[in-house]
Order: sequence, then C-alpha cells, then structure tokens
Amino acid sequence: MIGPSTVDLHTHSLRSDGALQPADLVRRAAANGVRVQALSDHDTLSGIGEAIAAGTPLGVRIIPATELNTESEWGDVHILGYFLDPADAALEDRLRWLRENRGRRVELMVERLQALGYGITLERVLELAQGGALGRPHLATALFEAGHVPTYDAAFDTIIGKDSPAYVARVGLTPLEAVELVRAHGGVPSLAHPGTVVGLEELLPRLVDRGLAGIECHYDVHTAEYTAYCLDLAARYDLVATGGSDFHGRGEHGAEIGNVPVPPESVPALEARRRPANIASSALGEG
Ligand code: AMP
Ligand code: ZN
Ligand code: FE
Ligand code: FE
Repeated sequence: MIGPSTVDLHTHSLRSDGALQPADLVRRAAANGVRVQALSDHDTLSGIGEAIAAGTPLGVRIIPATELNTESEWGDVHILGYFLDPADAALEDRLRWLRENRGRRVELMVERLQALGYGITLERVLELAQGGALGRPHLATALFEAGHVPTYDAAFDTIIGKDSPAYVARVGLTPLEAVELVRAHGGVPSLAHPGTVVGLEELLPRLVDRGLAGIECHYDVHTAEYTAYCLDLAARYDLVATGGSDFHGRGEHGAEIGNVPVPPESVPALEARRRPANIASSALGEG
C-alpha cells in the first residue's frame, strides 16, 4: 500500500520500544512510499547505521534522530532531536546515562508489578526488548502475553499508567535540558506530539528560548482543529511544522509508517535550522 506521505519524521525500531529491526522498518517505509524517514528511537542512535544501509538501495533517505522523554511538571514532554551524529562520543555518553536510567526504572516497575501479584519477570522483559532502550512498552508486551490485560494498549490504561501503583517516575532530563542537549550536539530539536504537554503555551516560549526549532503539528491523533492550532503556534514562534507516524508496531499506539501527511518542505526547513554544536556554552550549565 502506498501511504499518503513521502515524509515520516517520527518512527521507532527495536533499538528502543518499536517491534521491527531498523532495516525491516525502513523496508516497510519504502513499501509505503516513504522517501525521507527519521529513525527517532528513544535515547539511542544505535539503529541509524543499519537504517541508512537498508535505505540507500531503496531510495529512502534516513535522518538520524532520537526522541528524549523528559520528566517535569509539564506533562509528557518529548523532544525529537534531528541531524544528530551517531559517532558523537560525548552525546553517546549522555544517551547511555538516559538508557541506564530507563533500565533502573523498568527494574523498579517489575518489582512493583510482582509485589502487586503480576507474574512477569525482568528476564522476560529484557528478552522482549532484544537489547533496545527499555521502556514501559516492554512491560506492556510482557503483561499482555502473560494474559494480565486484554490488549497491549490496555496495560497503559490500567496497570502501568501514570496513576497506577506500579508506575515509577523517570530520572532524566527536564524539557529545557533536552532542547539544550540536542542543540549542544548540533541537532535540531522539535516538540513531539504537543497535545500531551500540560501548559503548552507557557512552556513553548521557554523551549524556543533554549533553541527549539520545530513543533510536531502533523500527528495521528490530532483533529483538524488541533493541527490548525499547532500550525498557528508554529507561525507565532517561527517554528518548523514537523510530523510523523510515531510508528512502533506494537498495539494501536501511533499510525502506520507513512500514514500521517507531512509536507515535504518541512525537511529542508528543518535542515536550515541547523547551527554549529554549542558544547562549550552548554557546559557552563546556566539555568
Ligand atoms: P516510557 O518512556 O517508558 O515511559 O514509555 C513511553 C512510551 O510508551 C511511548 O513512547 C509509547 O511508545 C508508549 N505509550 C505511552 N502511552 C501509551 C498508551 N496510552 N498506549 C500505548 N502506548 C503508549
Ligand atoms: Zn515509544
Ligand atoms: Fe513520544
Ligand atoms: Fe515516539
């Protein structure tokens, strides 16, 4: 099937919480008509090489990216960082720290789930993740296969959601730190699925002040009205309107890869927002 979009700037593989190997993800994108794909696995760039190798013969350009999930009082603030370098060792140090925190959080949640009587094991969760950056999706998959929930998605509503007793907050970056980290390493940050932010209009100018360059206007669950609202915010704050499927290949979360219409001009517009890495000034750590 040919999807409606040749551009998809938000996809996940097994290197984090998606279900497909990076090469299989790229083949699926190509089959759906995608020509520019950002591989945006959480807290890792480890799938980029494999994605580029698969994409080149298929005519799919891979944009190296990551999605940084933050912890703050602003709800779910996820920062997409585009045009990052998988060979940047200092960046990899920070990403490894974030992945280690993910691992500890999942261990704690497994302990809580066991205490609550759910028969899942850390061993099985690690097996399901196949070495990818750990997250709640791996817990949801384990809970589903063990028969504790009727569907994968239901786990997020009933057992591992923010209000559930098994939930453990993440240790990681604040939204401002995530934007700064991307800029410090020469990347271009965009605010993912802004509908999950609490206090968007208060937070947005602060993110812009730190270097935010985009906002994900085109996203599966957005109504036409919400998309128009995001496009208006993009115009007001001089942000590039980005978009993507957030395809994971697990449950109903996200769209089919290539199935969210993203204007092709968003790609050169994002590229035009690149600026030199800013490691020296960010090391001062002001604010
Ligand atoms: P984590 O970063 O470990 O807290 O997990 C966040 C990830 O869980 C997101 O990137 C999605 O892949 C997935 N997720 C979050 N909420 C839901 C939901 N309600 N239904 C399905 N998947 C979800
Ligand atoms: Zn995810
Ligand atoms: Fe996200
Ligand atoms: Fe995502």
